[in-house]
Amino acid sequence: MSDIAAIVAEIAAEMREATERGQVADYIPPLACISPDRFGMAVVTAQGEVFTAGDAEEPFSIQSISKVFSLTLALGAVGDALWRRVGREPSGSAFNSIVQLESEHGIPRNPFINAGAIVVADVLLSGHEPREAIGSILHFVRALAGDESVIIDERVANAERETGFRNFALANYMRAFGNIRHPVERTLGVYFHQCALAMSCRQLAMAGRFLMHDGRNPATGLSVVSPRRARRINALMMLCGHYDNSGEFAFRTGLAGKSGVGGGILAVAPGIASIAVWSPGLNDKGNSQLGALALERLTQRTGWSVFQPRPVA
Ligand code: GLU
Repeated sequence: MSDIAAIVAEIAAEMREATERGQVADYIPPLACISPDRFGMAVVTAQGEVFTAGDAEEPFSIQSISKVFSLTLALGAVGDALWRRVGREPSGSAFNSIVQLESEHGIPRNPFINAGAIVVADVLLSGHEPREAIGSILHFVRALAGDESVIIDERVANAERETGFRNFALANYMRAFGNIRHPVERTLGVYFHQCALAMSCRQLAMAGRFLMHDGRNPATGLSVVSPRRARRINALMMLCGHYDNSGEFAFRTGLAGKSGVGGGILAVAPGIASIAVWSPGLNDKGNSQLGALALERLTQRTGWSVFQPRPVA
């Protein structure tokens, strides 16, 4: 067994025994009913090897991890003009916070808080029907993962809409500033469906490959985004991917990472690996408790880090 296979298996075994597993998100029934005992992990290396352990093949609700894919698509659609409508600073606030929007005139701090992702969804809606925008996100994620079986869970999307009062508030507030250009129900229809993407750790780690390969999908050899853009998406993930817990995540793992309230984390070690972990119990900031711990142990045992010195070419 290779070192990485042994490390991944060892971490999964340790996580099975963990007692402090956090609280499962309970704002919608499809998430509230998931057992906190679940844990999965998948590592795809730059050489294309795949290592999995635990519940790595079980689809879960990727929630805010979808913000990485929608941002990538929106940058492809409108390029750097996106940055006139969304900032690039860590918010230091909760994922669904509204407080900064008033003083910052309806421009969200970054694309990974809810307000920012709702603006990104609004950008993807331009010139399209909501179902077309949703279809293009699904198609994109399937192509990145190299897996046509990825689906959107309609039960989750409906539950998001029924309980999404804060997201409606955020969207309406930004519409008042002119930063949402479509009726909020239509923009949020796109946002709620992207949050409802269901993927396994294996599928998610595969979908993240372009971020470890400087923007290139290794399966097709085609460029998904330019190297500069891939590096910038990684930078945003590291600085903003865990809301007001982003500093703590970067400190503990040294990786770019994006979490979701479904308990998943997509993490990237550029040039080395794309990693997905899933454990539904969340810490008090809404990020996977064991997911972060597993990534911390993985980076300690492998030495992987964005800050790992590399030979100068
Ligand atoms: N659907 C969730 C919301 O919009 C996503 C939040 C998250 O995953 O952080 O509230």
